[in-house]
Amino acid sequence: MNIPKHDVLLVGGGGAGLRAAIAASETYRGADIGVVSKVYPMRSHTVSAEGGTAAVLREDDNLDLHAYDTIKGSDFLGDQDVVEAFVKEAVDEVIQLEHWGCPWSRDEDGRVSVRAFGGMSVKRTLYAADKTGFHMLHALFQTSLKYDAITRYDEWFVTSLLVEDGRVCGVTALNIRSGNIHAISAKSVIICTGGAGKIFPFTTNAAIKNGDGMALAYRIGCPLKDLEFVQYHPTGLPGTGILMTEASRGEGGHLVNSKGERYLSEYVPGKMELGPRDILSRSFIHEERKGNVFEGPDGSYVHLDLRHLGEKVIDEKLPFVRELTRNYVGIDPVIEPIPVRPVVHYCMGGVHTDIHGATPISGLYAAGEAACVSLNGANRLGSNSLTECLVFGARAGQVAAQHAADTDFADSASMVKMAQDEQKRIETQFFGNNGKERVANIRDDLRQTMEEGAGIFRTEDALKATCDTIRALKERYKNIGIDDHSRVFNTDLVNALELGYMLDVAEGLAHSALLRRESRGSHARSDYEERDDENFLKHSLAYQTDGDPRIEYMPVTLTRWEPEERTY
Ligand SMILES: Cc1cc2nc3c(=O)[nH]c(=O)nc-3n(C[C@H](O)[C@H](O)[C@H](O)COP(=O)(O)OP(=O)(O)OC[C@H]3O[C@@H](n4cnc5c(N)ncnc54)[C@H](O)[C@@H]3O)c2cc1C
Repeated sequence: MNIPKHDVLLVGGGGAGLRAAIAASETYRGADIGVVSKVYPMRSHTVSAEGGTAAVLREDDNLDLHAYDTIKGSDFLGDQDVVEAFVKEAVDEVIQLEHWGCPWSRDEDGRVSVRAFGGMSVKRTLYAADKTGFHMLHALFQTSLKYDAITRYDEWFVTSLLVEDGRVCGVTALNIRSGNIHAISAKSVIICTGGAGKIFPFTTNAAIKNGDGMALAYRIGCPLKDLEFVQYHPTGLPGTGILMTEASRGEGGHLVNSKGERYLSEYVPGKMELGPRDILSRSFIHEERKGNVFEGPDGSYVHLDLRHLGEKVIDEKLPFVRELTRNYVGIDPVIEPIPVRPVVHYCMGGVHTDIHGATPISGLYAAGEAACVSLNGANRLGSNSLTECLVFGARAGQVAAQHAADTDFADSASMVKMAQDEQKRIETQFFGNNGKERVANIRDDLRQTMEEGAGIFRTEDALKATCDTIRALKERYKNIGIDDHSRVFNTDLVNALELGYMLDVAEGLAHSALLRRESRGSHARSDYEERDDENFLKHSLAYQTDGDPRIEYMPVTLTRWEPEERTY
């Protein structure tokens, strides 16, 4: 078997993956870089980001203010050294992205425009209309094409990380087009596989976001950090979960309940629609309990009203919102309010890394939404995530390249053996045993139990029930069978493999949430309503075991900001 070799291998070709690939190429001249992506890179979820990306560009702003907003937004769980590095490096990253071709929207005077975003004290979110992710990813993608050293494996699906003598030495991947399993050897592997929103039933996330990379790392003993923190975005379309970007509130949109009230005056009077997402999502539930919401075929909702902005502003600043609402709900936001409700949007937790993107396992790195470098803590501020992909994608690419420069490739013969073992595992588990369980049934049950136990409000009993259900679902998964036994583009097989990842991430998430007996950021326990800094100002680390995951903790890094009560 001929094994391709790369100094640095990216798993993921979204914003973080492509930024890391470019950084690795620039750090280690002559390095050979591979990018494996289960979809064509421009189809990564980054492409669907709408609202913008945060960085300090204006005179009324400063790095400390961006840092403070981020730390307060995180409910003081973000590592402050990470936040300080982030706000500083964000500025060069967004300027560089413009030099690479990203068409930031501009003011009349020629300066790059900035808009308001939730939890940010001043306007600091750069944007390209409301198609920011598309333009950012496109700029990164076309820049990556400049580097001959970058080889792409489009529509290849990573099934395992290969480990030898305690260090990661490559991956096995399914070439989805041919159905063959291959080993790819690498001195450094960077996981940039994005989030896991699809473990919930109602989400803004693309169908490809199943926590693959988190589970890959978890399976080889790498801890997953702060997994219990899941962000609900307050404004998704009922039914589809399609996102109505926060930019619609940044540009002045109102949230209105069924009584015609801007109900946020009761919950976040100082910020109203520009409060942070966790608080806004909980406010919806309070209104729902009071009966102040509309009822529709896809559940209850409130109104996002943009009418007072006028057609010109909507067309200039929010054209995609108008396009989406016209196409998916038959509503023109110029003349009618938009029905919205909270929807799962983002994973604050992920693969545990240090400030450089290195995991505790030699040769393994992670960046972007799949990683938890501890920037976002218990609640991410909107528009920090795209910037995170740039800053920590670049950092991870650099350290992974340095590691590769000082390391040798693993022995090819043992890699061939590992790839054969993986092929055998997949043949036996999915094609061989004619199992009676079906992917869709287990997946539906998983999503339902996640919503019931690990949704916006959580309790001990509901979380315990969710942990039990996940354990039972993992047993059922052992008896999985797929109907399509062909090789070429076998999406049945891909879905079955993804379901395995989803179950692992869900397990870590539910157990971390069960043991965090406090409320902080997005993690709202109805039975422990207060934040408890004495016992829980710490990160959770979930380790896979043969039984339930083992949850350990590590301290939060504080530099200059003492935890204080979080009010807006
Ligand atoms: C609708 C929407 C709007 C958003 N808007 C904003 C916004 O305005 N501002 C903001 O800051 N954030 C926003 N976010 C969040 C932000 O877009 C994401 O967190 C970020 O883009 C994630 O980038 P990433 O590179 O980590 O992952 P992704 O872009 O999700 O890319 C993951 C990559 O991993 C690959 N992959 C996954 N599993 C495998 C596997 N098993 N084998 C091989 N390849 C694999 C995929 O093919 C893909 O290339 C938004 C998110 C959504 C869903």
